[in-house]
Amino acid sequence: MSKFIFITGGVVSSLGKGISGSSIAKLLQLRGLKVNMVKCDPYINVDPGTLSPYQHGEVYVTKDGAEADLDLGTYERFLGVEMTHHNTNTAGSIYQTVINRERKGDYNGTTVQVIPHVTNEIKSRFIPFEKDFDVTVIEIGGTVGDMESLPFIEAARQFKLERGWNNVMCVHATLIPYIASAGELKTKPTQHSVTKLREIGLEPDVLICRSEHPLPQKMKKKISLFCSVPVEAVIEARDVPSIYLLPENFEQQNLTDLIIKRLGLKPKTKNDGKWFNFVKKAAKVSKEITIAIAGKYAELHDAYKSVAESLNLAGMSNGVKVKIKYVNTETDTIPAALKGVQGIIVPGGFGKRGVEGKIKAIKYARENKIPFLGICLGMQCTVIEAARNLAGLKDADSTELNPKTKHPVIAMMEEQKTVKLLGGTMRLGNYPCNLEKGSLAHRLYKKNLILERHRHRYEYNTEFVKELEATGLHITGWHKNTLPEIVEYKDHPFFIAVQFHPEFKSSPMNPHPLFDGLVKAALKAKK
Ligand code: GLN
Repeated sequence: MSKFIFITGGVVSSLGKGISGSSIAKLLQLRGLKVNMVKCDPYINVDPGTLSPYQHGEVYVTKDGAEADLDLGTYERFLGVEMTHHNTNTAGSIYQTVINRERKGDYNGTTVQVIPHVTNEIKSRFIPFEKDFDVTVIEIGGTVGDMESLPFIEAARQFKLERGWNNVMCVHATLIPYIASAGELKTKPTQHSVTKLREIGLEPDVLICRSEHPLPQKMKKKISLFCSVPVEAVIEARDVPSIYLLPENFEQQNLTDLIIKRLGLKPKTKNDGKWFNFVKKAAKVSKEITIAIAGKYAELHDAYKSVAESLNLAGMSNGVKVKIKYVNTETDTIPAALKGVQGIIVPGGFGKRGVEGKIKAIKYARENKIPFLGICLGMQCTVIEAARNLAGLKDADSTELNPKTKHPVIAMMEEQKTVKLLGGTMRLGNYPCNLEKGSLAHRLYKKNLILERHRHRYEYNTEFVKELEATGLHITGWHKNTLPEIVEYKDHPFFIAVQFHPEFKSSPMNPHPLFDGLVKAALKAKK
């Protein structure tokens, strides 16, 4: 029988529920269990694809083309399990399913209600992995007490009743604030939040207490008494220099054994400590390189979360700390803002803002032989830069940015023009790409055929291949011989730009080949 762990959050948002949930999942995985994760987001958007990065950070893309919450990136990086649309749910997608069913007459004339119709649909989203996985960790977004998350918590309550206490447990992530003037840690908000959770019928088995200070045993006992959770299940989650250190912190507090016992799990192996040792060693390195991420959301680091994490993970594998310099291509002076960095990334994006700055950044990387990786819009800007500055097509542009350009080197393909719904017009998810033997891409991936995730509408316009190849910008990756996927300059230590999003596929000990290559090239540039 598959087991389920719900993660809820109390007191405030941004407690790192996703990281705590991923850490628990990782600890069980390190004991040989098969673990997957599910995210439930209480907002009404059907998916976060149409949400501004200002509201929600980056949109994470799964292999089957779901546009998802960035927490799925954390799950995938911790577990190395490729996410799909089954890992992500929003209130909007749940209501959409229920309403579509109602319109089709599937409810046989009954009144459609939150209980049981919406909660039944939610419960069906908890179980897609029960056949193939020993444990599913289910993160309920939002904060307990919010109106919006109520149907999800109600569904969890029902689910626990149906599946039985032995098969379902609840972990509540909460905050223990430190009041500086009193010099004290305060447990009251946690008490209230647990009371709130009980009111709606869920009892926490474990409390993950986020705190800036150590939680003395005395304090753990107090929380235990007031919240009616055994003292050994009151877990301290102190701020850590690297999120990947959190699983070992939990392990040292015996959380893994506690969960295994509570759910009657049968671990298949011992934790060999390799993963712990890798992340611990990586957290200690002192050598540093600086890589710039040149985009329009420089102040909003969550907008480039997976790019930053991929750099971090590539650094971890190469024994170096990668410092990221976020450069705003709209407001910073370029190239001045890029001076002194050992590598440059121009990431993906939509719309005109900041594009001219991105093109200048690419010119600077090309001319000054600075290791460069262009991603999606970054690749499209690379093509525009070559067209304008090397092929002499002065007004070359993407039709997304200038629909009237005489030289549309980036344009929308015919079949995409016919799709009308926002969010529905994109090339999304995995597409295969053939690599040219001997190219930089081929040397990095060490494969002829790769699968990478996409999220874009526009493409390199093959009408311009001849003119652009003459500039030295060579296509080394193709989708079915029709769509260019990768471009490179040969006479450059490391210059590669890709139409897909490589940043979604990195994990500790498995850095993505493109980020690994960039970090290695940047390290060489530093010498
Ligand atoms: N805006 C571009 C397109 O839609 C690039 C998208 C991206 O960078 N993700 O094609």
